[in-house]
Amino acid sequence: MINLKELEVWFVTGSQNLYGPEVLKLVANNSTEIAAFFNKSAQIPVTVVYKSVMKSLDEVTNMCIEANSSPKCIGLVTWCHTFSPSKMWINGLKLLNKPLLQLHTQYNRDLPWGEIDMDFMNLNQSAHGDREHGFILSRLRKNRKVVVGYWQENDVQERIGVWTRAAAAWYDMQGARLARFGDNMREVAVTEGDKVEAQIKFGLSVNTWPVGDIVKIVEGVSETQIDQIMAEYNVLYDFDKEAQKGGKYYENVRYQARIEAGFKSFLEEGGFKAFTTTFEDLHGLKQLPGLASQRLMAAGYGFGAEGDWKHAALVRAVKVMGTGLKGGCSFMEDYTYHLNPQSGYKALGSHMLEICPSIANGKAKIEVHPLGIGGKDAPARLVFNTQTGPATCTSLIDMGNRFRMIVADVECVEPEAKLEKLPVASALWTPMPDLKVGAAAWIYSGGAHHNAFSQAVTAEYIEDFCDIAGIELIQINKNTSVPNLKNELRWNEMYYLLSNGLK
Ligand code: MN
Repeated sequence: MINLKELEVWFVTGSQNLYGPEVLKLVANNSTEIAAFFNKSAQIPVTVVYKSVMKSLDEVTNMCIEANSSPKCIGLVTWCHTFSPSKMWINGLKLLNKPLLQLHTQYNRDLPWGEIDMDFMNLNQSAHGDREHGFILSRLRKNRKVVVGYWQENDVQERIGVWTRAAAAWYDMQGARLARFGDNMREVAVTEGDKVEAQIKFGLSVNTWPVGDIVKIVEGVSETQIDQIMAEYNVLYDFDKEAQKGGKYYENVRYQARIEAGFKSFLEEGGFKAFTTTFEDLHGLKQLPGLASQRLMAAGYGFGAEGDWKHAALVRAVKVMGTGLKGGCSFMEDYTYHLNPQSGYKALGSHMLEICPSIANGKAKIEVHPLGIGGKDAPARLVFNTQTGPATCTSLIDMGNRFRMIVADVECVEPEAKLEKLPVASALWTPMPDLKVGAAAWIYSGGAHHNAFSQAVTAEYIEDFCDIAGIELIQINKNTSVPNLKNELRWNEMYYLLSNGLK
């Protein structure tokens, strides 16, 4: 899907000429050491490149121009080992259009209590140098992540790692192409949205292709191609009896393999990273893409059902953030509830068909069942339960004057009994802090019935991503209280009205 190590974060140190060549040499050596340490860190998946020590306005400006135009640079980490007067940063930072992390650390961990002298004080000045740097970033209204702590500490590496993954997802979205087969599900509001504004805000282009075009490609898929995909299914999944060779639905499974191959070649040729389908526009397709959509999601494509391009884009972004981490990511829908006060309120997340097997606990099973809507052949799909443990549900909505992201912490739990007759994949969870507060908060926020569900990506990743994108974020977690959230929503209305104006 994406090779994070090919992407670069530039480590840039602030200083000034005042200190003389000896101190500046130490500053450069120490910075090189820190950057090399981060580059080797298991928590930081990208390549960390030490740039140089900034000592003048021209150096900062040129570095920012270079970062903007570098196809590999996904962001800057800045740190002021010594004092670095901020007026020399203004011109460059005004131009900078890459994500920024302000690292607030110190080369020396401990104060050398008995030995401390003015030389130590002159070199280890980030305590005030980074405050000067913070002022100008705040004065310029520059969104950035601030990470505080000793650079070798695990927590510091983790915070930087999370931000690099959010920056990678942002990088991946710039110029990304999303294909829609068919329009929005008729009359549905939340899956609509301003695609021009989405391209302005996220750099993502969203366009529609006629279903007839994809049908032609699907029909052109060879039996050999289908055989190859079926061989993969045989290794990776179990088969329901009727879906097996000789079973009455075997050809239906082969047809999904045909859809998978056809869609894949269309997406690859067009350089697409995400796509949507809708059961209301399947002209010429014999089945709704079920198993095929599940497989393409597992391969890293963003997916949204019913024409939901915002969540298709979000699923892709969350998948990029979670690259190589434990736990998967899927398109998801809050489907139905367990409202038993004794055993605890729970939400069952699922979809008509399209849940990504990256979140499965164990081997998924291919089954074929008729679909109540759409009037097509019975579609094949993968059926499974989800890993238990913490997860997040993230939703992106269009508020008319801005995009709002909502991220909710949930805890996935075991079903109380086997879901023997459920013909689709599902995840069972308790929202934080509980279903009553969590669902009320989600509904007050206007969160969609669709979301990007992830077991790898926490709210911190989404927070970093929203700061980079400059969009609103509502977090729902163990600390959420509905009265506070209602105030936050009111205040945000005012903030975005004033800060966005007619932008
Ligand atoms: Mn849906």
